Formats: sequence, C-alpha cells, structure tokens
Amino acid sequence: MKGIFSGLEKLGLGKLEKVEVFEDASKKENDTQEAKKKAPAATEADFLFEKTYVCPVCDQEFHSKKIRTGKVKLLAADTDLRPKYQYVDCLKYDAVACPYCGYAALDRFFKFMMPAQARLIREHISANFKGLPATDSIYTYDDALERHQLALLNTVIKKAKESERAYTCLKMAWICRGKAESLSEELPNYKIQLKELKQQEKELLENAYTGFETAFSKESFPMCGMDEITVSYLLAELARRIGKFEESSRWISRVLISRDANDRIKNRAREIKELLNKDMHKA
Ligand SMILES: [Zn+2]
Repeated sequence: MKGIFSGLEKLGLGKLEKVEVFEDASKKENDTQEAKKKAPAATEADFLFEKTYVCPVCDQEFHSKKIRTGKVKLLAADTDLRPKYQYVDCLKYDAVACPYCGYAALDRFFKFMMPAQARLIREHISANFKGLPATDSIYTYDDALERHQLALLNTVIKKAKESERAYTCLKMAWICRGKAESLSEELPNYKIQLKELKQQEKELLENAYTGFETAFSKESFPMCGMDEITVSYLLAELARRIGKFEESSRWISRVLISRDANDRIKNRAREIKELLNKDMHKA
C-alpha cells in the first residue's frame, strides 16, 4: 500500500518516506508504481495564473500556479466540508512549493517561518532536495499530490502545530478523493487504483482527525480559518468516516447542544447523525 510520503525519493527525499505525521499513527508500507497521469482538462488553464512568492527559507523568488479567485464557482461541499467547484478542482493548487530548496506549505501557512524551523528544513530537506518535476500548463492530480506530500513532510520537519499538520492531511485526503472521482473506469487497473486511493484517503483522514483532536484542546480558535463549532463538526464527520463511531457521536452532540452553533451547522450535524446511525447498523 502507498504510504502518505511514498514517492518522495523522486525529489531526493526518499530517506524521509518513513516519517510519521503524528507519532502514534499506524505504520504503512510504501511502494507500488506511480499512478497514471490524467489527461488535462481543456478549460482548467483559463482559471490559472502564475503567482510570485519569495521563499522564507532560501529567499529566492519563484512562481506557482494559482486559481484566479472570483472566476470559479463553488457548487457544493462534501459532508466533511471539501469544496467542489465548477470546471476545476481548486484544491489541487493549494500547496505552494519552492523549486529551489524544497520548502512547501499550504498557501495560508507559507510565509510564516521561525528561524529555527528554516534551519530544520535546510538541514533535513534542502540538503537532499533534487528539485520539482516539470509540469504542464495545469497540475494533474499526481502533481498536486506530490506538492501536498512535500508540504506535509515540511510540517513534520519544521514541527508545525498539530492544526497545520492536520489541515494539510485533510487537504491531501480531498485530493485523493478528487483523483478517485476523476479516474476513468476504462483504465485497466481502475479497481486497484481506486482501492489504493481510498486507503490513502482514509489514512490521511485518520491523521487529520488525530491532529485536529489534539489541536482542539491545545490551540486557540479560529483554527485554519475555522471556528470552534466548525472544527467540532469536522471532527464529528472525520470520526464517522474513519469508523470511530462513539467519538463521532460525542462531537455531534457537542454541535447540537452548543448555543453558539447556528441552524445551518446544526442541520448538517443532524445529517451526519443519520449517516452515523446507518453506519452503526452496517457495522
Ligand atoms: Zn526556497
């Protein structure tokens, strides 16, 4: 099975493939071939532009593909808050990676860097980093997964807060889901790829749950742009998706009895309560 960090050897960081996002997370094998690249959609490039960044680790300037905000339309969201847009999966463009030193992070965290963290990244990542592979005018799901994987590795190396690690796992899980949805059933190894992606997604969701649960009691709100009720709701749904039914039930109650929660989020919590009841009957 593919581990969260498998494939990093392409970037020169193979030795770090075995690191764990959270210490008590279950160990996974890494291996298997790289998944087939998906053919780029014709219109996606219209939504992109090259944004300039200055790397807080190596001070070099570089460009990264970004979505033009305001151009894309939000269509819906999954029960775990994964946003779905018209024409393009914006989530693919959220991780920013420096092509010179290997520092990468989700856009919202990219510029925040303590000197001690920069030193850790230089020592453990830049020293072995071989550069990013070339991409076409848009990122494939595999390009996106590679960048998010690098961002996640950076969160571990720089000893980022639990919430940042958890959020990076969550975003990467959503990209696995996006890739799974985009796979053509005609692929000869469709079922194998789908199974692998589902496993990878689940592993990432488990790490996201662990991280947000710890962050909930240790960090302050808003957390990654979410207030306390939203994080409670998210924990409820992550717990349900990874089969921690009792925990899920506890978080759902927390949302339902909260005086600060509005009707919209309470209704969503009731929806996942129904899903949870179905899951518990199946189990
Ligand atoms: Zn850099």
